[in-house]
Amino acid sequence: MNKIFFIFCLFAFVINAEEFGYTAYDGPTSYNEAWNSPLCKIGLHQSPIDIDSSHFGNSVNNPTSFVNNLPDGYTLRVRNNGHAITYTSTDNSLLDFKLVKNGIEYKLDNFHFHTPSEHRINNRHSDSEVHFVFKTDPSENAGIAVVGFLFNVDVIPKYPWDSILDPYLVPAKKNEVETIIGFNLGDFFGKAFDNKNVYQYVGSLTTPKCSEGVLWHVSGVVQPIFFRDFLNLRKAIGFSARPVQRSEYAGQSVDGCGEH
Ligand SMILES: [Zn+2]
Repeated sequence: MNKIFFIFCLFAFVINAEEFGYTAYDGPTSYNEAWNSPLCKIGLHQSPIDIDSSHFGNSVNNPTSFVNNLPDGYTLRVRNNGHAITYTSTDNSLLDFKLVKNGIEYKLDNFHFHTPSEHRINNRHSDSEVHFVFKTDPSENAGIAVVGFLFNVDVIPKYPWDSILDPYLVPAKKNEVETIIGFNLGDFFGKAFDNKNVYQYVGSLTTPKCSEGVLWHVSGVVQPIFFRDFLNLRKAIGFSARPVQRSEYAGQSVDGCGEH
């Protein structure tokens, strides 16, 4: 193949791709050029990061809290976009679950899974990671806070994850959509989110346009994911993790409570 023609074909492939991805052609090294997202290349506060736990303090003096006004039996729209399984509202009800930090309310916009984890803790990655994305104004990308939980496989199904990750409930192919009953987010966060054991830092979205100023909370409590559900999740979305980024925040507590 003629070299110029090959380059043209490659360029056309990248430009015509529906969405970013994680391959050599549409993955993180192309985010700047293919999706006009310079922050992905030159940003200084990018995510994910490798968290050095010894340099993070806790947030008990400036806690993050949650307000749950979700109705019982609310429904979730589950979409396989080819690189993540994403959960949104069918009726905007997720907006009734809020994160409150420094007196500011952020409404839950969506949550989605990556395989393997994007964040690492002490240079160890996990099998998967879920991101709960909260926004002060869901119509735009201003004021974003994300809560991440890492997962490792387990031999026993564990609520709530088995209630949404059963293979029958996860769309197997790209662009497939399911509608399922959501779980009690207030109950889950009340038990699993611990201000004494969460790593907070200011970073970025991990996908184009890699917008910065994102308030990250990465739980230090790794969640169990039933091995059958994990294998199914990995089969459905494949590799979907941006590599860890160099960041001055990798070893600092955003609340300044750290030891260093
Ligand atoms: Zn994510």
